[in-house]
Amino acid sequence: MMAPRRFVVLDRDGTVILERNYLSDPEQVELLPGAAGALRQLRRMGLGLVLMTNQSAIGRGFFTEQRLGDIHQRLTQLLAAEGVRLDGIYYCPHTPEEGCHCRKPQPGLVEQAARELGFDPRASVVIGDKPCDLELGRQVGATTVLVHTGYGAQMAPRCQGIADYVVDDLAAAVPVIRRWHRPARLTPAATDVVVLCGGRGTRLGALSLKTPKPLLPIGGKPFLLHRLLRLKAEGFTRIILVAHHLADQFEAFVRDAVEGGISGLELIVEPAPLGTGGALRYAAERVRSSTFVALNGDSWFPQPLAAVLREHEGARRRFTAVVVPASQVQGGAFNKGTWEVGLDGAVKGFATSQLASAGWVNAGMYVIDRALACAWPSAPYSLEDNFTRLLAGKTSGVFCSKVPLLDIGTPQCYVLAEQLLGASEHMIALEHVQDAAPRS
Ligand SMILES: [Mg+2]
Repeated sequence: MMAPRRFVVLDRDGTVILERNYLSDPEQVELLPGAAGALRQLRRMGLGLVLMTNQSAIGRGFFTEQRLGDIHQRLTQLLAAEGVRLDGIYYCPHTPEEGCHCRKPQPGLVEQAARELGFDPRASVVIGDKPCDLELGRQVGATTVLVHTGYGAQMAPRCQGIADYVVDDLAAAVPVIRRWHRPARLTPAATDVVVLCGGRGTRLGALSLKTPKPLLPIGGKPFLLHRLLRLKAEGFTRIILVAHHLADQFEAFVRDAVEGGISGLELIVEPAPLGTGGALRYAAERVRSSTFVALNGDSWFPQPLAAVLREHEGARRRFTAVVVPASQVQGGAFNKGTWEVGLDGAVKGFATSQLASAGWVNAGMYVIDRALACAWPSAPYSLEDNFTRLLAGKTSGVFCSKVPLLDIGTPQCYVLAEQLLGASEHMIALEHVQDAAPRS
């Protein structure tokens, strides 16, 4: 079934036409510069256009609904002369004192239009020049855009936090909406995952002498299996494990997992321990998608990856590192180092020297352009320690997560993982449900 048409919900005064206090004369309707051209472009993208306006002047007795009809007929003619047709014009005739359900920011008009025109308000954009427009958008789960025309510039401080985007005018909203409307290319289903399993797990001592760290049992199942089930639940279809230490056990694990119904799983064995950088370079050869996700196989870090992919794609980066505030690192395993992050979110460097208990800790989760990784040297080296050299001049940044990070690299954390993930199937199911919930 085709997805329903997406709609742009437009405020009238100060957004599409010139703001005039209680406009009551059809002759005074004047399109804002560039507005008709912008609407034409939105139409060409296949978007529906609907106008919503508060007209308390009617409730106050300043003019009649008949007069309002004349005004809207005039507006329709002006737009038609520019080759633009609206799908509908909705208005609220009530005064604020009447406490109706249709005066913006109340959602009544959007609900009515969605019903009559058949669109999903959560998959629409609401544009306006006042807080009530953006609050309406928020209420119905839409994306919100503040224009600086009309009252917009003066209302901007009051719209912080409710405007997803702030633009000069309707024309400037077009590229924003074009990006919003473009389907995401980087989806989990179309993105390969590389899981790094090559570490020797020296900090675990005797625990990992016979069993590689990612295969230690948690809740009666190999830790790695929990990680793979989680990736599967997120929609990833192709997962490449990179191993070296005790590789035969990974071979057995993959056999069992495939037999158990986990499809799209592959194992590659490093010819020698290659470090994170060398291993990613090695794995990149086997990756088929133009962008891939890389994860440490010894951490429990259920950050939903779809959000990371969206940000990576939206910011047009070639490398994204996921970071967590030090307060979110469980069990005090501050062995991962910290990313140095600029105010603009760009990565400035990496520090392993002080095993930091403050700042942005490396979560061992990355989104990487495959061509970039294929250009890295194939010698053994650490990605983090050579960051500046590997990413010189490339667009990189961090994704700041709030999800707790649990590394099972020390005996203490291993015990903690057993406690936290012991009833694991339950936990995975619960998180999956949370991911599926509508965005807040
Ligand atoms: Mg307005």
